[in-house]
Amino acid sequence: MKAPKSLWFPFTHNGGLPPNKLVSGSGNYVFDDKGKRYLDATAGGVSCVILGHGREEIAQVVKEQLMELEYYCLFGYSHPLAESFADKIVERTPGELNHVFFSNSGSEAVETSLKIARSYWHRNGKPEKTKFISMVNGYHGMNFGGLSIGGLEENKTAFGPLLSGCSQFPQHDIGALAQEIELQGPDTVAAIILEPVQAAGGVYPPPENFLSEVRTLCDQKEVLLILDEVVCGWGRLGYWFGGHRYNVEADIMTSAKGLTSAYIPMGATIVSHKLYSSFLDQDGIEFMHGYTYSGHPAACAAGLKVIEILENEELISNSLEVGQYLKQKIHEFLVYEGVKETRGEGMLAAIEFNEDSAIENVKKVVTRMEIAGVLVRAQENHIGIYPPLTFSLSDIEEVLETLHIQMKEAL
Ligand code: PLP
Repeated sequence: MKAPKSLWFPFTHNGGLPPNKLVSGSGNYVFDDKGKRYLDATAGGVSCVILGHGREEIAQVVKEQLMELEYYCLFGYSHPLAESFADKIVERTPGELNHVFFSNSGSEAVETSLKIARSYWHRNGKPEKTKFISMVNGYHGMNFGGLSIGGLEENKTAFGPLLSGCSQFPQHDIGALAQEIELQGPDTVAAIILEPVQAAGGVYPPPENFLSEVRTLCDQKEVLLILDEVVCGWGRLGYWFGGHRYNVEADIMTSAKGLTSAYIPMGATIVSHKLYSSFLDQDGIEFMHGYTYSGHPAACAAGLKVIEILENEELISNSLEVGQYLKQKIHEFLVYEGVKETRGEGMLAAIEFNEDSAIENVKKVVTRMEIAGVLVRAQENHIGIYPPLTFSLSDIEEVLETLHIQMKEAL
């Protein structure tokens, strides 16, 4: 295989072997340039193609929109699909989260959420509330704000200095979070930001009451709660959003990935009425923020169709059923040499390996899986499984059986 001439791959060892080329997809399968078929247990590699591949009905509405009006910006103009997509989103978000700010990715949705939080306190007479507290091992995207609040240290190494006023507390330790707020000074903290289930960091579901305890703490200390639902939203946990799964209502929520099932890139930041209405009391532009492609008509067309398909095909209840099965079965992999821990929640699962040989074992197993025609994700010290919500019980069984065969032989 020849290395590509000009392409610089993201999150890839560019000096290594050229990666396999995937060129087409249909349902739960993708195909490489030699025609080999793979069962995709990663929803496009990073948990985003929630409806599976090659949906003509999405391509069709995107095409129709591009023919009608490909683009006009939302700065001072509106578009019917941006309005109706925002309406449809807030009909499904938890509680009072009912105003949508569109962007193009999870990282931009996070960036927007941080700016909304600071701006909210600034306009409400508390401009000193600027700090952010997040959780060790969290992932919030790769822009400077998201990186600064991110809890995966290896992502930060080469990029300092980062945003000041960002600190982390140990995983799911409510006492440590309370202490961190006191240490920083509640009068200086703008927001706590968390993923409902830490996904990229290795699939860590929270203790059942953790998020509602965080909510209570935020209310007591007058700190905003941002839930980063970029992975957990749109059915991944068997509920519309992680907030529904854990019965918690954020002040600000981020979304991307499943929002358009990755057919067109899009991000969104959804805020409570209380926050939004506090922005409306001044003349001129209230929030000096936005992206050229915020609310792109083609992305809105895709997103509206995604919601329709999720409902028509009852994919969220499918996710609940398949996810419960996956969560139960993932623990059977604990028997293999070198496996340290297994974790799952909804259609998100991970097999973590012992530190000394993790990278090597993950690579060995994932490469064998690829040869066997099943795509699972190699992610540092663990293997990630996050299929499209269209996976049936027999699809997930095929993934798990193939994993058993490959792990038995490889380890
Ligand atoms: N937030 C979370 C929880 C994520 O998992 C990700 C990406 O995986 C992001 C934000 C960043 O999203 P994007 O890669 O679309 O910028």
